[in-house]
Amino acid sequence: MSSEFIFNLFYLLLSFGLIYPPAEFISAGFTIQNWFGTILGSEKERFVKYHIKKSILNLFIYSCLPAIYIDLMYLLGFVELYSLFVDTTTFWKIFVTSSIAIPFLALYEIKRWTDNNFQNHPIVRNLTKYCNNNNSWEAVASDIENEFRRLEIVSIRTNPIVKVVVTENWIIKVCPLTLFVTHQSDATLDVKEATNYHLSHISPSETQFLNIEVKSGRVEPFTIRINSNEFQDLEDRLARSINVLPEVKFHKNITEQFLEVFSETVKKNPRYHTDIELDQCIGCLQTRPSIKLQKQCPDNEVPGRNCSNCFCRPMWCLDCITKWFLSRQEPEQKNQWLSSKCTCPMCRATFCVLDVSLLDDIEE
Ligand SMILES: [Zn+2]
Ligand SMILES: [Zn+2]
Ligand SMILES: [Zn+2]
Repeated sequence: MSSEFIFNLFYLLLSFGLIYPPAEFISAGFTIQNWFGTILGSEKERFVKYHIKKSILNLFIYSCLPAIYIDLMYLLGFVELYSLFVDTTTFWKIFVTSSIAIPFLALYEIKRWTDNNFQNHPIVRNLTKYCNNNNSWEAVASDIENEFRRLEIVSIRTNPIVKVVVTENWIIKVCPLTLFVTHQSDATLDVKEATNYHLSHISPSETQFLNIEVKSGRVEPFTIRINSNEFQDLEDRLARSINVLPEVKFHKNITEQFLEVFSETVKKNPRYHTDIELDQCIGCLQTRPSIKLQKQCPDNEVPGRNCSNCFCRPMWCLDCITKWFLSRQEPEQKNQWLSSKCTCPMCRATFCVLDVSLLDDIEE
């Protein structure tokens, strides 16, 4: 491997790590925020000012990366000054010229952003939409900053460079170059999409990510992407609930998810026929019993750990027996819930999901 190749690889990783810092970079303090902490000030104290400064800094540093690359190539002796511009390929000429031009274009853009009290800065343009009675954007900024200083904010990091902050009245999506801001009073949130990821092929558990669209009459809609585990935190902080569009298959919590998987499995078991007159389910007293416990699973090799037959008449609805089953499981061992056992609430006979039969007159 030539040293030039190693340098290229190193520089590529370094640039990528600066723009999209992985956890290792962040914990080692290898981030733009960390290096320029004194210029940026405190996010907690001056949230909006901090992000305006950060966006300017980010834009400038990103724009300098190609030029720094060429400088280093020259300083390390991989290229001659002469061959940078003259004796070289067209691609390289374009690259060298644009890498010199880009920082100047960025500076021009930064000048445009900062002119007239930041009027053209993307963050300020978003805040201006919330100026009432000829207020300046600074009044909106200071309102957000006051709320951000309080303890009861929700801050969810969605990836290394984007986070969602919800304060008492504001929903803010923080991006490297801008803030998307909307006031809770005129925002509606819809879960538009839920995507599942299997993190490992050994474990059946999966991670679900939700794309939530934040719409408002005053600003352009924007999408926030969160892990479904964080849904509840987010919803608790909002003044109104989040709509889940009908076509989105999404479980607000692990209990709901388990209830669905359990009942889907039960529906595949053989049905049970009974002619006896049944009262209400003794768990909820709201519906007819819908299941019968009867041993159907094969015995396993470990004696004493097999299921046993339950002779109780049907007394429970599927919902109640599932919740009972769930209440007897170890909270930490989510992966084993479906394959573990439980006892009949009345006779203590052991049963598993295979031993729960729907009554044959129950419609799915
Ligand atoms: Zn019930
Ligand atoms: Zn029983
Ligand atoms: Zn069983």
